Amino acid sequence: MAHSEALLVLENFIAGRFVPCSSYIDSYNPSTGDVYCRVPDSGKEEVEAAVRAAKNAFPIWSSKSPLEKSQILNKLADLIEHDLEAFAQAESKDQGKTITFARTVDIPRAVYNFRFFASSILHHTTECTEMASMGCVHYTSRTPVGVAGLISPWNLPLYLLTWKIAPAIACGNTVVAKPSEMTSVTAWMMCKLLEKAGMPHGVVNMVFGTGAKAGEALVCHPDVPLISFTGSTLTAQRITEKSAPHCKKLSLELGGKNPAIIFDDADLSQCIPTTLRSSFANQGEICLCTSRIFVQRGIYSEFVKRFVAETKKWKVGNPSDPTVDVGALISKEHLEKVRSYVKKAKAEGAKILCGEGVDSLALPAGNQKGYFMLPTVIAEIKDESCCMQEEIFGPVTCVVAFDTEEEVVKRANGVKYGLAATVWSSNVGRVHRVARRLQSGLVWTNCWLVRDLNLPFGGMKASGLSDDVFHILEHLLVQIRDYSSLGEAASNF
Ligand code: NAD
Repeated sequence: MAHSEALLVLENFIAGRFVPCSSYIDSYNPSTGDVYCRVPDSGKEEVEAAVRAAKNAFPIWSSKSPLEKSQILNKLADLIEHDLEAFAQAESKDQGKTITFARTVDIPRAVYNFRFFASSILHHTTECTEMASMGCVHYTSRTPVGVAGLISPWNLPLYLLTWKIAPAIACGNTVVAKPSEMTSVTAWMMCKLLEKAGMPHGVVNMVFGTGAKAGEALVCHPDVPLISFTGSTLTAQRITEKSAPHCKKLSLELGGKNPAIIFDDADLSQCIPTTLRSSFANQGEICLCTSRIFVQRGIYSEFVKRFVAETKKWKVGNPSDPTVDVGALISKEHLEKVRSYVKKAKAEGAKILCGEGVDSLALPAGNQKGYFMLPTVIAEIKDESCCMQEEIFGPVTCVVAFDTEEEVVKRANGVKYGLAATVWSSNVGRVHRVARRLQSGLVWTNCWLVRDLNLPFGGMKASGLSDDVFHILEHLLVQIRDYSSLGEAASNF
């Protein structure tokens, strides 16, 4: 093979050591269609070894002080930041995302995930109340759960994986993580930094492989009391079923079908560029991307005209080119799936305003086998259409008109998902009124993707179990101190 020298061969990371696997699968560079690396095809045996390592490391790690853990997390953040460019290049090649997005969003956020939890554990306090009249003090104590099983998707590989690892270990848990088999490289690169960061062996273990083999072995392992999963709703249903016999704690961050609601008093000069980003950033492969744009009838024509004109300016091409806006989709199968939604919409009588099947896409030179697609805008589509109901997870967005506030809230809520929504209006009262009525874990007003990690994150309905990140990672013990002085009353408590 011409590119064999460059072919990476990943190894699992267990108990502080890289361990080869008996079988491997290929992982592709989406922008060239070539094999980029070989990923361990782990199964029960590898998961067993990783869980054992995590279990052994738990007593020591969980007894470390917040300061000791915080220092290690900060050191790891520094090391990733030091290698930011190498991580960004790898993420772009592995996932198809633009180098600009990897440099400015994915890797900085991975760094920040560690820094944020390094800081927040230092401020983790015990809640205490006193019942002076009864002579007792009540307090709550948080303790780690044990070995956390962490399973992440391919769209924001290191960003989402570290969003799980950082809080889990900050709270004193040890982890066995399984990144997506399609995007494992940056997780493997991070493992190389753990020793230097001072991470004790066995605290972070990485098992690579498919969901069906490695993922399910982790979900079914009796010594893994909690699973934190980000991925599709369908996979979450299977994980829920498999973990039910063990009564595991579950954190589920799932798909979305996110609306943007644009009222006729919105500032279009802000709204249009932001809605373009919310629709097409990272090739539309973000769970929080907008895929249904509701525009009030009075400004519908103007919005559509300007939005389509701006969409056509988005440059699709080689992700390593910093001037490119849209890279390659994750896989050939995914590209076909996304295209099929556009075909279905057309067959149903919808109008494709630009993109797939309307404009011609010049494949980037040297990347002829890449999985590229033009950003696509669909109009004149019914709310019942699959393009308006199902998560497409690609650079495709639908734009429809509405008349009243009442109507748009009902239509925006008329899908099975409830992850994120965006409301555009200069009327503050209306913004708050509409936001409160939307069935959505997250509502942005006059902006998109602004995140404060202090706030809980999660979806409603089929978008997951909305939960405070600490809530799932720790057992909350309610203690009552000094109860001996209560005598008879204490035993009836
Ligand atoms: P996916 O469900 O196919 O896979 C996610 C992970 O689960 C992968 O690591 C995969 O190997 C593993 N997996 C698959 N089957 C499994 C099984 N039976 N048991 C255990 N693990 C299994 O999802 P995907 O295609 O990788 O990611 C795209 C989806 O993720 C979209 O639906 C997107 O909306 C969602 N997502 C949600 C969020 C959020 O925060 N809500 C963030 C990013 C992505």
